[in-house]
Amino acid sequence: MQRLQGWARELGFSQIGVAEIDLTTAEAGLQAWLAAGFHGGMGYMQRHGLKRARPAELVPGTVCVITARMDYLPRDAAPGWVDNEFAALHVPQRAVVSVYARGRDYHKVLRSRLQTLAERLAAEVGPLGHRVFTDSAPVLEVELASRSGVGWRGKHTLALHREAGSMFFLGEIFIDLPLPASSPVPASCGSCTACIDVCPTAAIVAPYRLDARRCISYLTIEHEGAIPLELRALIGNRIYGCDDCQLACPWNKYAVRATLPDFDVRNGLDGATLLQLWAWAEPEFARRTEGSAIRRIGWTRWRRNLAIGLGNALRATGDMSTRQALQQARSGACALVQEHIDWALGAG
Ligand code: SF4
Ligand code: SF4
Repeated sequence: MQRLQGWARELGFSQIGVAEIDLTTAEAGLQAWLAAGFHGGMGYMQRHGLKRARPAELVPGTVCVITARMDYLPRDAAPGWVDNEFAALHVPQRAVVSVYARGRDYHKVLRSRLQTLAERLAAEVGPLGHRVFTDSAPVLEVELASRSGVGWRGKHTLALHREAGSMFFLGEIFIDLPLPASSPVPASCGSCTACIDVCPTAAIVAPYRLDARRCISYLTIEHEGAIPLELRALIGNRIYGCDDCQLACPWNKYAVRATLPDFDVRNGLDGATLLQLWAWAEPEFARRTEGSAIRRIGWTRWRRNLAIGLGNALRATGDMSTRQALQQARSGACALVQEHIDWALGAG
């Protein structure tokens, strides 16, 4: 296990654990969450059903799961990065992209490194049945992480760790080799409710319970179609994801900077304005988001999100150049984006 930890560190992971695969105690919570409809349009969550809580059904032969954490706070993040992030939310013209999405697509980074880790293990122990996952719908990532000591499940439903806050990605390797399970860490939210209190859309409906349909991360990334009218003003200038519940979390004063350059900020996405990004034509969007997680949402959702941000900026500032930029883009936009532009201009 120690050698595995050493290889993992060489590959940029900060910690690994081993989880057993009996997740039956998580099944009731999963079912209740789905039954309440809190997964919104993420139909794949429903489709995978209880397989998500049964790793050996998902990957036959699995007997345990290696869990891994990789910190993503950019290497050059300033000491006051939390304050800077909160401040940006109060500058209406700024375009705020979630910290994790400003660099290279983490799916690519983690998947290839998990694969390398599995191959190193196989080279040591002989043939190894394995499959790697990261941020993958069929896997109960936070549950596996919290059972194996990689973090605990916070009231915002993300994993967090006393020594690392929550600014990290999770990955898993399902294997057919029994390894000793690692111990969970004690949950340390205590009486804190900072994440619940700060959430702009009241998406954390109770501790440990997230209504994805109200969550800005879900709405700006996963959700197709129109953004509910009543939530548009609350989205403010967040155009891709939302970090508020993490920024408010006291444990993130211990957030750890990445060791890999992959998560360094690209395209100035830690300081761009809405108008700068609105000026990107579709080919430029494709070029600049190559290798980035942002590309996954596609052009339409990108423009929809920007239109909302610009609408909120227009309401806050009355800026004429913002109005003109929206008006000029209207005729060339698809119906969905047009509707959001109309809303932004106050005509929707
Ligand atoms: S990501 Fe934003 S909207 Fe979603 S729960 Fe956290 S604070 Fe609320
Ligand atoms: S903000 Fe408080 S309640 Fe929320 S995850 Fe952090 S410690 Fe837990």
